[in-house]
Amino acid sequence: MRPPYSPARRRAFTCSLPKYTTGLFGTSPHAVSWIFPPHLDYNRPGYSIMMELHMTNQELADVFDRIANLMKIQGEMVFKIRAYERAAETLRALGEEASAIAARGELTSVPGIGKAIAEKIEELLQTGRLGFLERLEEEVPPSLLELLKVPGVGPKKVALFWKECNILTLDDLKKAAEEGRLRSLPGMGEKSEASILAGIASLAQRSRRMTLGRAWEAAQRWLGWLRSQAGVERAEPAGSLRRWKETIGDLDLVIAHRDPVALMQAFTSHPEVARTLGQGENKSSIELRDGARIQLWAQPPESFGALWQYATGSKDHNVRLRELAQKKGLSLSERGLLDEAGNLRRIADEADLYAALGLEWIPPELREDRGEIEAAARHALPRLVTLEDIRADLHCHTTWSDGVSTIEEMARAAIQHGYHVLAITDHSSYMGIVGGMKPEDLPRQKAEIAAVQQKLGDQILLLQGAEVDIRSDGVMDYPDEVLASLDLVIASLHTSLRQPREQITARLLNAIRNPHVDIIAHPTGRLLPDRSGADLDWQAVFAALQEHGTALEINASPSRLDADDAHTRYAASLGIPIVINTDAHAPGGLHEMRFGVAVARRAWLEAPRVINTWETHRLLDWLKQRGKR
Ligand SMILES: [Zn+2]
Ligand SMILES: [Zn+2]
Repeated sequence: MRPPYSPARRRAFTCSLPKYTTGLFGTSPHAVSWIFPPHLDYNRPGYSIMMELHMTNQELADVFDRIANLMKIQGEMVFKIRAYERAAETLRALGEEASAIAARGELTSVPGIGKAIAEKIEELLQTGRLGFLERLEEEVPPSLLELLKVPGVGPKKVALFWKECNILTLDDLKKAAEEGRLRSLPGMGEKSEASILAGIASLAQRSRRMTLGRAWEAAQRWLGWLRSQAGVERAEPAGSLRRWKETIGDLDLVIAHRDPVALMQAFTSHPEVARTLGQGENKSSIELRDGARIQLWAQPPESFGALWQYATGSKDHNVRLRELAQKKGLSLSERGLLDEAGNLRRIADEADLYAALGLEWIPPELREDRGEIEAAARHALPRLVTLEDIRADLHCHTTWSDGVSTIEEMARAAIQHGYHVLAITDHSSYMGIVGGMKPEDLPRQKAEIAAVQQKLGDQILLLQGAEVDIRSDGVMDYPDEVLASLDLVIASLHTSLRQPREQITARLLNAIRNPHVDIIAHPTGRLLPDRSGADLDWQAVFAALQEHGTALEINASPSRLDADDAHTRYAASLGIPIVINTDAHAPGGLHEMRFGVAVARRAWLEAPRVINTWETHRLLDWLKQRGKR
């Protein structure tokens, strides 16, 4: 048991928060920056925050992104900035915690982390602060980072506004635009001034939603804390997280507990809590300092199934279940089923609840009232694809473009995942910023792939693919004869995503019709939780995919999940092949496959619909049919 909470102690911690953290909380309302991991006991006598502040990879990455953005405003050299961006990407993609690697003294052996970055990570891990960043923030006011969030405002403009108009905050910027003081600046005009005002307005409307990846990570940590508390017999995720929705508002967690009063007290007085939104015996709700909210529900183990079902939702799904219950003269609650005489039948196991209503147990990903209740009544639910069904990853990057690991490192990681096939698909050269591959680099890469293949033998089959840009005029970034020389071709939109529907759809159709293109990756280019994707004419896209047998990717990165569940379900119903790829830029990125599988499950997909569940020979046959190898 943890000792009683002491407000004085909490204040002491708040005061000793390192300087940059206030900025992190202040500048990124959507980011869940968990400075205090729930598994640590902050009230332990003699506890020292400076000794034990355990920064997660995400928090470290946020610091390096912050440095990169400040340097951009400062006008620093591109290659210097790139080193910090790369460090942030590396940290986000690492499977293992950087603190553990640092404890072994092996930070510099991580690709993408050089000596200078490693020293900064050590400093952050040991002291919770970074002298370099503090000096940088004396030169470039950190409040300027806020301005970068306004759509259409980049670092050069921020520097311009700062130096020419002494604009330091969003409010300053808004005021200056309203007063017409921006239009006379170089490169600005009345139109760009108006679009800045519109951008500021749209910022205010953004939601507090988190990506699935962040929510998942946070839930694991809170569940770990809950499971370590006395009397907790079971702790599980519920709500939209358990349904694997693409973005998550509040986190819902459920526990089985016979007397949760003390636990609810410990929960609402946890050091991470900014305020308590509600506290009851069976349900409490908190808001964390970064704005994220968690609801905790409790019932005794005999009622856990009813609670878990109730708290998982969705609302629409549960409304349908209540109607079914009513027809049987029952009513449904988080404790169980109540008959007309008022007798409560507690339900420990969710499946018993569905059975009582004449239904097969319904996987949480399907609980959206999209036909699952009818299917469950007929015992005709799909056998959803699982993570264990996945045998290949057909989209990843290496040091040949913007990845941080070598071909061999990625291949060995894929073997660890039990994969039979890995396609190496580095970027083509159009996106100058990521250092894509020129056609003349491909033979050397091919030789390296062959050498690694030789070394690894039959543990895995490596394919040489490429992620080829669809240029803004619709032309593929590699000529046809180069495309024809590859084992697999992915086509992607990365630029000019705001083109009008007709224009951007025509670009995508051009790629689909190219006989060398096998997969369309992340079709809309959206970035969750806030940046919407290209405005595509989906009917035209579906028709072309169907006609040419081109595969549609579910990009598993939690910031993409693109194509989404709805489009994927429809595409699959047309017989369009689906592929789930991680687009990993480091070995850790391969772990994100689970999020892509979740989209596929929400799209009702069975394994045979997903080409990277196929046996190797079948996958190779498919490629051969498409004129490959
Ligand atoms: Zn891409
Ligand atoms: Zn990619």
